[in-house]
Amino acid sequence: MTRELIVLGTSSQVPTRHRAHNGYLLRWDDEGILFDPGEGAQRQLLLAGAAASDITRICVTHFHGDHCLGLPGIVQRLSLDRVPHEVPVHFPASGTLFWRRLRHASWFHDQAKLVEQPVIGDGGVVATGRFGTLSARRLNHSVESYGYRLVEPDGRRMLPERLAALGVRGPDVGVLLREGAVEVDGRRVTLDQASEPKPGQVMAFVMDTGRCQAALDLAAGADLLVIESTFLESEAELAAEAGHLTAAQAARIAAEAGVRTLVLTHFSQRHPDADVFGQEAAEHFDGEIVVARELSRITLPARR
Ligand SMILES: [Zn+2]
Repeated sequence: MTRELIVLGTSSQVPTRHRAHNGYLLRWDDEGILFDPGEGAQRQLLLAGAAASDITRICVTHFHGDHCLGLPGIVQRLSLDRVPHEVPVHFPASGTLFWRRLRHASWFHDQAKLVEQPVIGDGGVVATGRFGTLSARRLNHSVESYGYRLVEPDGRRMLPERLAALGVRGPDVGVLLREGAVEVDGRRVTLDQASEPKPGQVMAFVMDTGRCQAALDLAAGADLLVIESTFLESEAELAAEAGHLTAAQAARIAAEAGVRTLVLTHFSQRHPDADVFGQEAAEHFDGEIVVARELSRITLPARR
């Protein structure tokens, strides 16, 4: 099963010569969650080797252009490619007017099976499925903005040496997994005896926001945190005015939340060299830091 983040673009506000507008596709087993498709997302998807049919769900944090201007192209491509499955779309309910305009931006033969699922109030659980639980929390930006958190349920990992010692073999292993216990030679063997806990993986997506409790809650214990880092600490005043984070603030959120891999993105055009964001973050966070690059693939860290 593949679990990776495909970076479509890393630029805040405007694309630059070397950066595409913000956008990400999270591949999570058989789910493909498209986050915040900025302008040009359709072409970036093609360049990344992904297809419209890989998209099973769309999450929009808010309706500033760098987070949604790619929607018309994506919607029309879902139609053109006759993608047969339903694609739920989560977005701030207060932006429903923008969503509907983008959804119906021009003439096309409309066949996309999009299911509007607006997020209201403080958010909460927005979807559950085989992938786990997807929830949203309201962030702190100049317009209503939500971050997202995907949590896989905890499971159990079978231990072959314990299974052997307990005499469980063949189809009995399946029974033990499904039913939690199995009878072997007149003895009852339980799942706990033959396995250990396997924590579910957690991915968090925190875009435009100033520092807030919701960002920390979304990021709590995440294996992978994708977070905006629009500015540097030297521009903290500007960041505060615009409702954005600096690389240092993003890194401190990751450190406080116990994140494993920190992905920095959504960079201001003031900084053509994105490495400066990683360098600043490293002063505040000692886990793995990835400075997102166009068309890169970032694998979720190995399970704990
Ligand atoms: Zn933005």
